[in-house]
Amino acid sequence: MKESFTGKVYLVGAGPGDPELLTVKARALLDRADVVLHDDLVSPEIISLILPQTEIVNVGKRCGLKKITQNEINGQMIALAKRGLQVVRLKSGDPAIFGRLAEETDALEAARIPFEVVPGITAGISAAASLRVSLTDRRSSSRVVIVTGHPATDKEKQDKIEWRDLVRPESTLVIYMPGQNFSHLREELVAAGLASDVPAVLVSQASTPRQQQHCTTVGEVHKLQSVPAPAILLIGRSLERACQRSSVENLSLALDDADLVICSK
Ligand code: SAH
Repeated sequence: MKESFTGKVYLVGAGPGDPELLTVKARALLDRADVVLHDDLVSPEIISLILPQTEIVNVGKRCGLKKITQNEINGQMIALAKRGLQVVRLKSGDPAIFGRLAEETDALEAARIPFEVVPGITAGISAAASLRVSLTDRRSSSRVVIVTGHPATDKEKQDKIEWRDLVRPESTLVIYMPGQNFSHLREELVAAGLASDVPAVLVSQASTPRQQQHCTTVGEVHKLQSVPAPAILLIGRSLERACQRSSVENLSLALDDADLVICSK
């Protein structure tokens, strides 16, 4: 027996990838769901937790041959809920950060479908935790700017990102969808007044066993090698400790590998 004639849609954050970073609520909803509609970025480790009797649909923009549109995803959620089903719409990270949440809640509201939003750990927060740094720091960083390096709408593309408005010495920048070519970003950040020695860390596949991180500075950010997606770029003085630790770790790895070490005074 279903709870009501009309089902309900839960827009749930799956976190960055590590199943242990799912919330207890997300896990319980996954266990109770009739259908899970998930994005491409939800990790295979999390998909594998879904019970065998639950229908799983990948509605990621890259799934299959045909590109699925946002309207089609909205239509699927609405149709399933109208059949009385409990639907989990599973999104990577937090659904409210670059997750098209507003478009989906607008559609559900217009169709009078009950829905609930369940937060998740967003990639930037997870990346900072994995580097063991604090995005705010009373001594160096009084604000966090969450921004995409890859504006989605034509209007946003025309407007361009006004880095000058965002960049302050006391800001930590958390750049989602940073792309692969950082030459332009470097120019923009330096032109906006950011010092070239400010640390920058690119974190790929945060929280998964495949995580990589690469420390550099704003002045050298264009030299970063491309890394497997998804990746996020953190910039700011608050990253200093992460880069210090990484250079100590790199040195000790190099020493482990070396056949001969020559020391000078
Ligand atoms: N709602 C998601 C963001 C979706 S936008 C969240 O809150 O995390 C997709 C972008 O998120 C990717 O291009 C990448 O920049 C970032 N991202 C998502 N998962 C990530 C991960 N595990 N590691 C690094 N970046 C990630």
